[in-house]
Parts: sequence; C-alpha cells; structure tokens
Amino acid sequence: MEEHQLLIGGEWIESERRTEVVNPATEQAFATVASASAEQVDKAVAAAAKAWPEWAKLPAVERGACLRRWADLVDRDSDALARLVTQEVGKPLAEAHGEIQFGNSWFRYYAEFDRRIEGEILPADRPNEQLFIFPQPLGVVSAIIPWNYPSAVAIRKIAPALIAGNTIVLKPHEHTPLSAIALGRLAMEAGVPPGVVNIVTGPGETTGEALVANSTPQLITFTGSVATGKRIAKMAADNVTVVSLELGGKAPFIVMDDCNLDAAVDGAVFARFLNCGQVCICNERTYVHEKVAEEFTEKFVAKVRELKVGDPLREATKIGPKVSRSELEKVDQYVQEAVSQGARAATGGRRLTEGEFARGYWYEPTVLTGVSQQMPVMQKEIFGPVAPLMTCSGFEEAIALANDSPFGLAGYLYTKDIDRLMRAVRDIEVGELYINRGPGESIHGFHTGWKQSGIGGDDGKHGLDHYLRRKTVYLRYDA
Ligand code: NAD
Repeated sequence: MEEHQLLIGGEWIESERRTEVVNPATEQAFATVASASAEQVDKAVAAAAKAWPEWAKLPAVERGACLRRWADLVDRDSDALARLVTQEVGKPLAEAHGEIQFGNSWFRYYAEFDRRIEGEILPADRPNEQLFIFPQPLGVVSAIIPWNYPSAVAIRKIAPALIAGNTIVLKPHEHTPLSAIALGRLAMEAGVPPGVVNIVTGPGETTGEALVANSTPQLITFTGSVATGKRIAKMAADNVTVVSLELGGKAPFIVMDDCNLDAAVDGAVFARFLNCGQVCICNERTYVHEKVAEEFTEKFVAKVRELKVGDPLREATKIGPKVSRSELEKVDQYVQEAVSQGARAATGGRRLTEGEFARGYWYEPTVLTGVSQQMPVMQKEIFGPVAPLMTCSGFEEAIALANDSPFGLAGYLYTKDIDRLMRAVRDIEVGELYINRGPGESIHGFHTGWKQSGIGGDDGKHGLDHYLRRKTVYLRYDA
C-alpha cells in the first residue's frame, strides 16, 4: 500500500498518525496519508510565511512561468492524475479526465494575469500630490477543499493565490488527499520554490481546525458544506481573518411550457447525475410547468433508466459509487423519508448491493414524484443521484418556489419567452444562472454563492481579487 507524507517547506514530512484512503467502488484501502498534527500545521504555515517575501518580490512573469511549467506537467501526467481521481472519488474516468483538463486551465488562465494585475492612479485633492492604489499580495493563504473535485478545486485555489504573489497551505479532504499530493509532487518538479505550496493532509476536526486557528494566514479560502463554512467563519472571526466561502447548494431547475422539452430533459438529467449528483451546482429540485409535466416526467424517467451504473474505470459507465458510506446512508435516508411522507420512486429508490455492487457505495439513479416543497428532500442538499420532481402552475409560482430556500448558489431555467427569461435574471436569488443549458462554469466567470451558499467566490478577475489587498498611497512631491 502506498504511503504519503506532508509537503512542508519543500520536504516530504512523516507524521505520527496516518489515515487510510479507500476506493469507494471496492471499499479497498489502497493508500495511507499522514495526518498533520497541530504543530505540523503551524510548521507548514511558518514555511509558507518564510517563503513569501522572496516569492512576492519575483516579477509576476516569473510566477506566471512557474504556473505554466506546472500546467505542462499536469498535461504530461493527465492519464495518471485522472485515474487517481477515479480511484479516490469513484467518478467515471471520462469525467475524471474532464476534471484534470478543466482544472489545469486555471493554471494557464491565471498565469495570463502576470501582466494584468493593475493598480490605479487618481488625482489628489491637494496641490502637488498624487494618489495611487496599489494591489498587493496578502501573504500566506490557507485553502481547505472538499472531495468532489479534489484536483480541480485545488488548482482553482492555488493558481490565483500564487499569481497574486501569495504562498499557500492547502488541506484536501481526508477521503481524497491523493490528487493534491500528486499536484504537490509536480510543483516540486516544476521548480515552485520550497514553502510556496504546502500540503497538509488529515481530518477536518484536527488538521483543518489547526489551520483555521492559525493567525498568520490573511485569507482562508474554503469550499465545502454550509455547516463547516459557518464553523470556519466563526473561528476566523477571532483572528479577524478574511474568509471566502464556497458552500452547498440546492439548485432549482425550472422547466416552462414553452421550452424545447427534449433539451430540458437532457439538461436536467446531466445537471442532476453528473459526478453521481455530487456537484454543488447540481439540479437538486426540478419544477415543471403543469402543462408539460406528464411528458417531461415520462421522458426524464426513461433517460434516467438508461444511465449505466458500474465500475468507474469502464468506458460505458455514467454513474459511479457515492464517495463514502456516510454519504450513501445520508442519500438513502432522504429517499426513504420522502417515500414515507408520500413521495413515489418512479425509478430507483434503493441502494445497489448485489453482484458487482456487493462491495462499494452504490445507489440506484432515482426519480421521486409526488414530492412537496416542505419535504426535506426539497429543502436540504441531497448531493447524490436522486431527482425530486414537482409540478408548478406557472412562472410566478416557479420563481417563488426557487427562492424558497436558504441556499443561493446556482439555478436553471428552460424557456424561450424573453419576458420570463429576463425576469428570472432579475428575480432568481442565485449567484450562477444557467438558461437553456446544463451546468458547467467557465474559468473566467465568477462562481459565487448567494444567501447561505457563501461569501466571496472563485474564478475570473473577481475571484482573483480575493487574493489581493490594496494600499492607498498619498504622495506629496513638493516637499
Ligand atoms: P465538508 O464541509 O465536510 O468538508 C470540506 C473540507 O472541510 C474538508 O477538507 C474537511 O476535512 C474540512 N473540514 C471539516 N470540518 C472542518 C473544521 N471543523 N475545520 C476546518 N476544516 C474542516 O464538505 P464535503 O463533504 O467535503 O463537500 C461537500 C460539500 O461541499 C457540499 O455541501 C457541496 O455543495 C460543497 N461544495 C461547494 C462547492 C462550491 O463551489 N460552492 C464546490 C464543491 C462542493
């Protein structure tokens, strides 16, 4: 079994405790990683702080060149990196390849900012003065990431942090630490100076909390659940550390009677079952106009039945296992609860346990009808292959239902009516709206959650802004 260490100050460091990494398709442990103690986390932060001044002083083009070399190595090793993602998350290999390519595009995109981080020159209110606003790096950034995109989300945080002139301590999820470790090895090969990127693996409650408690980092960038985000924000308040939180979602998917119904069915299936339903912007609740509800449901259920569940390394597989037993049990509980409250499983509705599914965390792709807005399955994030469908009387009701949620990450609308479309742009309370298309953000957009789905955001120039602070200089030149 492979054994992995912590990356601190350019060295691979052993720890007293280790955590097993389990393949969710087989339940076999295939690697162990070091669990960083609080002292080791502090050492990683100290290494990042030590490396920071030299890294920040480098011309940005040299930092950009570093990111490009790193990206070239990710391309070189993309097959192995994709297999690693499949092994630790369980997502189908084709999706894992997509994750590696998409993730790598952040390295190249943010490398382009090596000549684009701009300040401002303003007229002064006094004679013989000039006013400047300089963008400057923060120093050390800590990043804590989830398990659903262990490679892409790591790069999503590292690339903007580094181009802005910060150093970073990254903590991946304890279930999926290997992709981050593999990226760490490539960083060393690419010539990223020691201490600029540090990787501490271990559980959230110990390693993660130690990182949040450290007062040196000037930004905690976190992607994960609402509950953990709230806990981190409370802890960060003690050190007055800035937080950027990308949290959970409960995206509404609205299908109007005037839309291209086949396109809506395809979009709704893709938006629900991508990565086994484990994406923060997944279609978590579908609202269908009553005039087309019957036809939509029939076509939707037929498409879901076609989804091939199985070994994620097989090319034909569309749905892999859930990432862990606890995630599997949570999803099953939502379904059984909904059924006991009157919902009906139009397809699926149970765990898969026979034959090739005897080991692993498998759930049948499920469609629930007869649900109501108050059921937990319509209110809480399912994060699995379960699609609850509800009928609505028209556009007004659909918008009201969509906004009836503490979450505000993403939303979907299928309509050709320009009036409905523009009113949705104005009225749906989400940070990311997809109209007449399925999910998939762009590197240069802004991925941001409204309401309890987050604070701050990632990607594009607005995402980069979180990794900078600004200094205003009043310069008098007749002294
Ligand atoms: P999680 O909150 O359980 O874990 C996320 C990370 O936080 C992990 O690295 C974990 O070890 C760490 N952690 C846990 N407790 C901690 C603590 N007390 N202090 C510090 N760190 C701690 O989330 P998850 O199960 O890994 O991910 C699924 C969630 O992430 C879903 O809610 C999903 O919607 C959300 N998510 C959001 C986005 C987004 O961009 N908005 C993207 C992906 C996932």
